[in-house]
Amino acid sequence: MEKIKMNPIVEMNGDEMTRIIWQMVKDELISPFVLLNTEYYDLGLANRDATDDRVTLEAAEATKRLGVAVKCATITPNAQRVEEYKLKKMWKSPNATIRAALDGTVFRTPIMTSCIKPAVRNWKAPITIARHAYGDVYKAAEYRVPGPGRAELVFTGQDGVQFKETVYDYECAGVLQSMYNKDSSIEAFARSCFEYALSQRQDLWFSTKDTISKQYDQTFKNIFQRIYDAEYHAKFKTLGIEYFYTLIDDAVARVIRSKGGFIWALKNYDGDVMSDMVSTAFGSLAMMTSVLVSPHGYFEFEAAHGTVTRHYYRYLKGEETSTNPVATIFAWSGALKKRGELDGNTALAEFSCRLEKAVLDTIEAGQMTGDLAMLAEGENVQTLTTAQFIAAVKSRL
Ligand code: NAP
Ligand code: MG
Repeated sequence: MEKIKMNPIVEMNGDEMTRIIWQMVKDELISPFVLLNTEYYDLGLANRDATDDRVTLEAAEATKRLGVAVKCATITPNAQRVEEYKLKKMWKSPNATIRAALDGTVFRTPIMTSCIKPAVRNWKAPITIARHAYGDVYKAAEYRVPGPGRAELVFTGQDGVQFKETVYDYECAGVLQSMYNKDSSIEAFARSCFEYALSQRQDLWFSTKDTISKQYDQTFKNIFQRIYDAEYHAKFKTLGIEYFYTLIDDAVARVIRSKGGFIWALKNYDGDVMSDMVSTAFGSLAMMTSVLVSPHGYFEFEAAHGTVTRHYYRYLKGEETSTNPVATIFAWSGALKKRGELDGNTALAEFSCRLEKAVLDTIEAGQMTGDLAMLAEGENVQTLTTAQFIAAVKSRL
């Protein structure tokens, strides 16, 4: 069989168990069929340290140039990792660095199979969470108030003009917090969501608490509406999809009653919390894909889970692990499919769809890794090691 040719994508390798799985997926499921063309960046912790983390920035810059990237899970160092890897410094999270460079929004989608039923009975199709990953409570200023006194919110413009509002006249001790966001980031968030809805041909929902937060959340609502009316209304009409804003209380009720199959955009905190609820209700973190979409139309695909450290330590002792490679496989298929779509390379896009189908068919035939076997319904459920599972997918492919 002649291998499928492709234009280059950015490949970012990573750490621990997912680095092992990365190689297996490439060797067994992709390279035999595709003349793999990648610009390779090793984001493994040792190389980030050796390059003073320049490799992460270079990988982000390459993504702007090539438009499509696939990333393996990486360690975000903490004090223990600094010791373990004898690091020069506690490097920042690569995902944060890449997100800052690409100005993107993270979309997370559960991978559904018929043998694992969502906890919400009527969910028939995946719900994608689009989380704004900038500002709000994650960048807040806050402290404890020691006792009686006045708290004020003050803004001083460059021209010296001030806004001042009393927050509260404390009669006792308490707590105080202030947070911010900015129009440019909210606009980028909105455009990423509209672009992603178009690329997925799915409805976009957005919800905030604008009835209570009449300036802050109202600004999010207004910016989304303004950009939709000016830039996306016609495109949505053409595809027969809709943009729908509703109060967050109403949204949670509608999400539970829904059949799924849409994108739900949320502010930073709401998205953080709701994505854990939605992924758990759909089954497992190991079955969640994640893609960073920039407002300029760059795409970076990865698995939603981490480097699965506990499995890696067992692997190092020579044990065969049953680590689920599905989200990593879907990161690759997602990136190859996007490359194919952007270039009109139908063979590549079709290969990606076949690869995903082979994965789902394998699981539906009862062959899966241990994490899924625990959740699966059906008689003939077989627990496979990672290598056995990948071999089963390959033989179907
Ligand atoms: P994790 O790697 O997602 O693993 C947490 C637990 O979830 C695992 O111990 C395992 O449970 C289960 N799990 C996750 N993925 C699985 C898979 N594919 N197959 C089977 N089970 C799976 O999260 P973590 O242990 O909190 O973090 C480990 C490292 O990953 C950290 O250094 C963190 O910085 C990094 N991280 C990176 C990313 C990223 O690059 N996007 C995201 C999150 C975390 P059992 O052990 O019970 O089987
Ligand atoms: Mg969370």
